Amino acid sequence: MTTVPLTIPALGDRFARELPELAVAWRAEEAPDPRLLLLNEALAGELGFDPLFLRSPEGVRLLLGTALPDGAAPVAQAYAGHQFGSYSPRLGDGRALLLGEIADAEGRLRDLHLKGSGRTPFARGGDGLAVVGPMLREYVVSEAMHALGVPTTRSLAVVATGRTVRREGLLPGAVLARVASSHLRVGSFQYARNTGDLGLLRRLADHVIDRHHPAAADAQRPYLALFDAVVAAQASLVAEWMLVGFVHGVMNTDNMTISGETIDYGPCAFIEAFDPAIVYSSIDDAGRYSYGNQPIAAEWNLARLGEALLPLLDERPEQAIELATASLGAFRTRYSAAWAAGIRAKIGLPDDDHAESSALVDDLFALLQKDRVDYTSFFRHLATAARGDAAPARGMFGDRTAFDEWLTRWLARAPDAASMDRTNPVYIPRNHLVEEALGAAGHGDLAPCEELLDVLARPYQARPGLDRYAAPAPADFGPYQTFCGT
Ligand code: AMP
Ligand code: MG
Repeated sequence: MTTVPLTIPALGDRFARELPELAVAWRAEEAPDPRLLLLNEALAGELGFDPLFLRSPEGVRLLLGTALPDGAAPVAQAYAGHQFGSYSPRLGDGRALLLGEIADAEGRLRDLHLKGSGRTPFARGGDGLAVVGPMLREYVVSEAMHALGVPTTRSLAVVATGRTVRREGLLPGAVLARVASSHLRVGSFQYARNTGDLGLLRRLADHVIDRHHPAAADAQRPYLALFDAVVAAQASLVAEWMLVGFVHGVMNTDNMTISGETIDYGPCAFIEAFDPAIVYSSIDDAGRYSYGNQPIAAEWNLARLGEALLPLLDERPEQAIELATASLGAFRTRYSAAWAAGIRAKIGLPDDDHAESSALVDDLFALLQKDRVDYTSFFRHLATAARGDAAPARGMFGDRTAFDEWLTRWLARAPDAASMDRTNPVYIPRNHLVEEALGAAGHGDLAPCEELLDVLARPYQARPGLDRYAAPAPADFGPYQTFCGT
């Protein structure tokens, strides 16, 4: 028998070395009875892990953070954050650990990070733990986002710990292993600024420029260029969320990355019946993070980042504010341009400034909202209409006369059905499908989760036999509610 060489990539400590003020050396808690529930073999491969190793008892202990390769120095990261508008100077990883950075197959540095690995000095009142259901949910939704082409943290594995966790009742515990280009957030800058240590703030900015926005280093004002780059990355990210119908649900400044990746899949959901005011999170009574408010929430968070960066922008406070304000001003233009280009692609029209395209988009959204049309399947049905069969799209509207009028105008602009199919997903992690898969997992059956992951891995390609994955939730499902701090 040939033995497979077991490769374990090195876990670097660059973050902890360069920014010790933001790192507390810490260890993961032992798990009484670990069981690997999901492993992302493709991602494991990208990182240089042998999937066979990660499935072994030793590998599972690595995924729990309890047996690490030599040289690894796990840390809990410190950060601050505005949560629903109010500032907490010290949040940090209460139940998470950065195991270290791995240079992937393309030489990019990726954080390997755990969620649910036990209490840390940042735990405040929390138990430091996570539960199987929500960790599987983060795995499924983040991998779906990746397949949709939306920048996001990735999920490497979910390991059940065998520990019981007290929530509303007793639930099985789990650890999620997640991968990101880094876990630095708006809240990391808020924390550094709040220490009053300008040297730390500058070191953090330099670290981030080098890891995420290297072009800023060559700019005349590198820290302003860094802010410009984050504004641009977030404008583009939130436009992608809006285009694909994603509601993050908890856009606090500690949940907004500097890299422009989506992070922290807590109370997130995908919209179905189109309604800009929709909120899924059980605690978001005021609709601060509703679907339609996401661009405003992102801009608000970026203003907090700008404030944190002020001393680096110019020694003269007035000038610094002026520079930050001008840079932040680009958010709206960039967001609108990204969204407009994306929505034209979704309806198959060329990306030009044709006034009729904008009018068509505005009128379409009024119709979608009026009849609360299923957002995702509408655009696929619209491509069918471009191919000559308008019945499926027409059938989605109560006011067919208004839709027919719109359709005539739209068809006159010769939409490109093939390009529509490349940008409009057939399969998204619909809320009822995710719940169904998690329900089965709760009874020990992971097959529905694996199957859902397989469907969501190729979201733009309609495949026979998968109709039920493309259909909206049955009428008796919902209203759907999601939860934080799971
Ligand atoms: P989130 O909204 O999930 O990003 O979490 C906000 C903050 O609460 C972060 O600092 C988390 O580390 C912390 N946190 C959430 N759940 C727990 C928990 N069960 N134990 C300790 N800290 C937690
Ligand atoms: Mg968070």
